[in-house]
Amino acid sequence: MASAPWDMRASPLDKPVVVAMHTRSGLVGLNVVTAALDADARTQGLDVRFAKGSDAMIDALRDVASAGRRAIALWSFYSPDFAATARDLAAVKEATGASALHVAGGVHATAEPLATLSRGWDLVAIGEGEHTTIELALAVASGRDPRALPGTAHLDPAGGRLVSHGPGERRPLDDYPPFNARHRKWNALEITRGCVYACSFCQTPYMFKARFRHRSVADVRRHVDQMRECGSRFVRFLTPTSLSYGSADTTPDLDAVDALLASVREGAGADAKIFFGTFPSEIRPEHITPRALEILARWCDNRTLVIGGQSGSDRILEATRRGHTVDDVVRAVELSVKAGFRPDVDFLLGLPGEDESDRVASMTLAERLVGMGARIHSHAFMPLPGTPLRDAEPSPIEPETALAMARLESKGKAYGQWRRQVVTAEDLVRARRGRAPAAKAD
Ligand code: SF4
Repeated sequence: MASAPWDMRASPLDKPVVVAMHTRSGLVGLNVVTAALDADARTQGLDVRFAKGSDAMIDALRDVASAGRRAIALWSFYSPDFAATARDLAAVKEATGASALHVAGGVHATAEPLATLSRGWDLVAIGEGEHTTIELALAVASGRDPRALPGTAHLDPAGGRLVSHGPGERRPLDDYPPFNARHRKWNALEITRGCVYACSFCQTPYMFKARFRHRSVADVRRHVDQMRECGSRFVRFLTPTSLSYGSADTTPDLDAVDALLASVREGAGADAKIFFGTFPSEIRPEHITPRALEILARWCDNRTLVIGGQSGSDRILEATRRGHTVDDVVRAVELSVKAGFRPDVDFLLGLPGEDESDRVASMTLAERLVGMGARIHSHAFMPLPGTPLRDAEPSPIEPETALAMARLESKGKAYGQWRRQVVTAEDLVRARRGRAPAAKAD
């Protein structure tokens, strides 16, 4: 990217300061949108700060205000963190007044702009935030009203009506960096955005569109080289479905995966640790083949693979539009173990429409997979805003299922946050019941 065409110190752009609330679930999103500012010559080098909590945010905003400068406070969070983040915002605003423009982005704010704005944010960035963040900084710098920007939503001061200008501009992934190198904020490299699958409990296709956009091998390599130069020795990837890299549809393109990982290994070096098909990104079970496993074994260091299984009931897999069967999960575990990997299989308990027999089928499958050499990564269904199941009721998880899961946990064969997620799901249902009726957007 070309350097700034003018001296930033002499530009009006030295006036706004971007302060990112760098806590909880929005870390990667905030790294990426603040890095986008450096990818545009007009906002390159802007003063960006990171606050690791509400006290740090208060200090940062007071500092900016006392210097006579304007602050844009960026917030990003997933739905389970909404209530706690709203309390942080209230504390920050009470201490700092209206000294900053508070902007919320990310999956929750995109799905629930009215609820988000009603809790005190001034503006919501809808959808992908890189381009919108740049335009926001330019608008504040030049004194333009940021509420008029495409990609934003706000409340009409007259009647509290939601005014939305639609989602932010979607650009090729290569247009923006996957992490904030200037501030040494590293994270898993996003190689694919959007998802052609339409699992009804997942926010990804509804936030980013139901198609894949991939970062090019050359761009991934450029960033791996940059990480290596800075001494970072671990490479992880962010993708909705790891073996879909390079593919436009549901058929994996293993040549593309091979080319990506070969280049990453060359750039990262023999002593770097490369993790693919593991946290934070899983592999779909039907994508696991002997050749796929051979490619992963050749280039990667992880010997654990995270596989999306979700349910032991074909009826529930179909109802949630997972696009694979129970047999696909069994076969994936079998092949993975044979190739020397330990599969960690994601399970989702309490899906809507699930009955006791479905959960018995899930626990029977879980025990079978454990017997084959897998571990179970347990989750509980949460009715996430923006998804087709946002208004669904979680199915109750009876004591027998909880006991069966606890037995696996006590043997070290299962782990996960499902108990905490049951509580979060209850919170989401409660919040939904108290939600104001949706207002018409512009
Ligand atoms: S759960 Fe995975 S495969 Fe399904 S829609 Fe979400 S990201 Fe895509």
